[in-house]
Parts: sequence; structure tokens; C-alpha cells
Amino acid sequence: MSFQFKKMDSQEEKTSNQDLNGEVEKVKCLIVGSGPAGYTAAIYASRANLSPLMYQGLEPGGQLTTTTEVENFPGYPDGVTGPVLMDDLKAQAERFGTDSRWGIITSLDLSKRPFKAVADGKTQIEAESVIIATGATAKYLGLESEEKFKGSGVSACATCDGFFYKGKDVAVVGGGDTAAEEATYLAGICNKVYLVIRKDYMRASKAMIERVEKTENIEVLYEHVTKEITGGTVVEGAILDNKGKEVKIKIDGFFVAIGHTPQSELVKEWVDVDEEGYIKTVPDTTKTNVPGVFACGDVIDKSYKQAITAAGSGCKAALDAEKFLAEQE
Ligand code: NDP
Repeated sequence: MSFQFKKMDSQEEKTSNQDLNGEVEKVKCLIVGSGPAGYTAAIYASRANLSPLMYQGLEPGGQLTTTTEVENFPGYPDGVTGPVLMDDLKAQAERFGTDSRWGIITSLDLSKRPFKAVADGKTQIEAESVIIATGATAKYLGLESEEKFKGSGVSACATCDGFFYKGKDVAVVGGGDTAAEEATYLAGICNKVYLVIRKDYMRASKAMIERVEKTENIEVLYEHVTKEITGGTVVEGAILDNKGKEVKIKIDGFFVAIGHTPQSELVKEWVDVDEEGYIKTVPDTTKTNVPGVFACGDVIDKSYKQAITAAGSGCKAALDAEKFLAEQE
């Protein structure tokens, strides 16, 4: 299969924030966020001649750039590191003409089309359509030792990193569906899984609690609060508090599963969000309640949160935007 694409020449190429001195930059499609959803939307939108403008956000490349090895993204039989995967997606989007800029959208007015945006407090943009791909951030406990071992034993994604703990002992913190699911997933890979819950009950659904209880190599530690994660260069254990009593566990991996925060702050004045802040979309589409505004990736997804599901949803958002713009013409 041959690709037809137009490489932007250096004159056209815009690499970083531009101060347009009050001039308004007009685009067909503005993409906010640069994770797998944003870049896939960019690949599709640029191949559909929408010449998308992307603002990468505070964490260019998104959550994957904080992961080490990614072994479950189709097309990489030997695995790939998160940063390399994101660089590949960026290069692919830019190859077809995406203008991907390092910077953030500081304000957005979605009250009427064309939508108005300001980037980095200075660049004024008018967009015929907007794709929100701002993602979600995993919540962490906020311990100093947790920060120290991020990427070397502390993870917020069992599906991403569980395999590295094959046959080892790990702990999962949290009592919701995510923690229960991660604990059962890890139990299939690891020798033993401690499920550390701060209350005397689990908040997870009944079915998930039953699965946890039926899994022999999960030990549930109710009313245990993590005080510290210990080790030299990698995680070797954790110190927990059980109603004033110190409990030490020996583990190689520490998985935090205490929820995610969807990054919908920028748009929730205009776009409907649910009680947790996830953007609501019309079922089976990426359409929000504002015609011309689409949302994709983890900012709409509270269940799957995988790079590949985010990428798939980014593809849908670009197709939805393309259809919307065609209908307007
Ligand atoms: P939840 O908010 O449901 O649960 C978070 C858990 O983390 C709670 O047990 C909470 O404890 C605990 N927690 C929060 N902060 C701390 C802390 N500082 N220290 C220790 N523990 C802490 O988040 P989930 O990610 O589990 O789920 C989010 C939503 O997604 C839910 O609606 C869930 O049902 C849904 N979901 C559905 C799935 C499915 O259907 N397959 C899979 C995964 C999620 P406490 O109870 O004490 O507040």
C-alpha cells in the first residue's frame, strides 16, 4: 500500500508557540492533548485534509511517556518504550501535515462556532471543530517514597507493567473496581498479591469482590494504610499501618489503583460531564452535547484506559469531525 502525503516545507512548518500579535489563526480542526487518542485523531484528521492544529498540553505524549516498556500495543512484537511509541505517533501525525505544538490551551470558548481558543495566554485561534483528547491522570497516594520508586517498582497500571512482576509478590492499593480488577489480573501473573484497603470493606462491585475472594493468591488487608514504600534502587517492601500497629510486607511491585482524574476542567463549562468529570458522549460516537466538539481517549473512558482503546477512540473523533465539517459545507 502506498501513502500519498504532503510533507510541509520549512516555510509552512510551525514548530512552537507563535505570538500572532493579535492576529487570529483560523483552523478547521483543533486537537487538545497529545496522548494516543490525540495523535490518532491527528493522523486521521490530517489525512482527511483537515490540517489539524494540535496543542500537546502539559505532558506531551500523555501518560505513556511515564511508562517504561509497552508490550500490548499491536504492531510492536518486541515491545516499545512509552516515549518511543509516542514519538512514532507524533512523527506519523506530522508526516501528514499535523501542526503539533508544544504548549497548552489556556482558555476555550465553545459557546458558538467558530470556537475560540487561546494558547499559552497569547495565541488566538478560531476552530471550526475541536477534538478534546486531554486524558486522565492516575491518582497517587502522595508519599515521598512513592515518587522515588515511580518507574522502578511503583506503577498505576497493572495491565501495562504487571508482566514485569511474573512470579513475584506485589501489592495493590485501593478498594474500588479498578483495584479489584488489577489485583485479579496480577494474581494470574504474580506469586502473591496483597490488596491493601484503608477501610474495613471494599467499594468494588459485588461480582468483583467475589472474584477477589475466590482468588487464592490474593490476601486482602482491610484497614491498612500505606505509610512508606521501602527499598534501595527498586521496591523491596512496604510499611503499612493497621489501626496503630506497624505491618511490614515484602514486595517487588506496588500498584496504586485509587482512581483517575479526567482532565475536563478546560471544557466542563460548555460540555456535559458526569459526576466524576468524564466527558459525556452520544453513545457509539465521540460527539459531545456541543455540535462540532468531540471527545476521545481517557477523558471519556472510565473502564478500559488502554493506549489502544484511546487510539481507537481518537480515530472515531477525527472521522466524526470530518463528517460534521462536510455536513456544514
Ligand atoms: P473508585 O473511586 O471507585 O475507588 C477508589 C478506591 O481507592 C476506593 O476504595 C478508595 O477508598 C481508595 N482510595 C482513594 N484514595 C485513597 C488513598 N489516599 N489511600 C488509600 N485508598 C484510597 O475508583 P476506581 O478507579 O476503582 O473506579 C472508578 C469508576 O470506574 C467506578 O465507578 C468503577 O465502578 C468504574 N470501573 C468499572 C470497571 C468495570 O466495570 N469493569 C473497572 C474499573 C472501574 P475509600 O473506599 O476508602 O474511599
